Amino acid sequence: MTRLDGRTAIVTGGARGLGEAYVRALHAEGARVVIADLLDDAGAALAAELGADRARFEQLDVTDERGWTDIVARTLEAFGSVDVLINNAGIANAAPIEHFTLAKWDAVIAVNLTGTFLGCRAVVPPMKAAGRGSIVNVSSVEGLRGSERLHGYTASKFGVRGLTKSLAVELGPSGIRVNSVHPGLILTDMTTRIDPDALSIPLGRPALPEDVAGTVVFLASDESAYTTGAEFVVDGGMTT
Ligand code: NAD
Repeated sequence: MTRLDGRTAIVTGGARGLGEAYVRALHAEGARVVIADLLDDAGAALAAELGADRARFEQLDVTDERGWTDIVARTLEAFGSVDVLINNAGIANAAPIEHFTLAKWDAVIAVNLTGTFLGCRAVVPPMKAAGRGSIVNVSSVEGLRGSERLHGYTASKFGVRGLTKSLAVELGPSGIRVNSVHPGLILTDMTTRIDPDALSIPLGRPALPEDVAGTVVFLASDESAYTTGAEFVVDGGMTT
């Protein structure tokens, strides 16, 4: 018996990077996983590797309201429930404020914040009907502090943290838990331009995606049954 036997999890941005690590870890704990991503080749290959009985790929742009309705319906049809949602899809951009264009701002807010809002809203009906659910919203250490040039990213990640709190309060009585995870520097395609040696990290190294996956599995599972509205910082002590 593993921790997520019989549970179904949708992971946005699940085709690579942190999302892929979450997909693999949830699947290893017995969950059925839906890999929701723009990247069809990588997402389909991951689903094929994990096997059709407990893994599906769905092409989704998290900013597409209709896409969310469809993916929840198809997940219910295929797997019978939506027990866990990991809102992980995200993008980053940066510029000094005088050069931070409205297009840059709109893009990062749309994916990171509006995409998270749409995902949460879409899974609530089946979770309410089941009387249980766990939503994990991926914020960042940039949802806890300010950093130069990251204006849109920071605003979106603070927004994700705030949305998590209001949902936790509203949905707790329905048995739905909502928590946020705040990774520090994780080595993925998103962070190739950041020099880890320029940062002060008490644990002495940047993280690998697998370093965050344990926290996500914990929040998805009943081991965190009394935890909602909480912030989980996984940053090697960077913001301490
Ligand atoms: P990544 O760029 O490696 O992967 C992001 C994934 O999201 C990709 O598969 C991409 O196709 C998908 N995606 C992007 N836009 C999408 C959209 N509109 N709809 C559906 N899918 C979309 O990034 P990552 O480093 O794995 O980051 C994952 C999450 O973790 C992001 O929310 C990011 O902000 C957050 N995060 C990352 C770090 C880090 O150091 N890497 C730190 C803190 C937080």
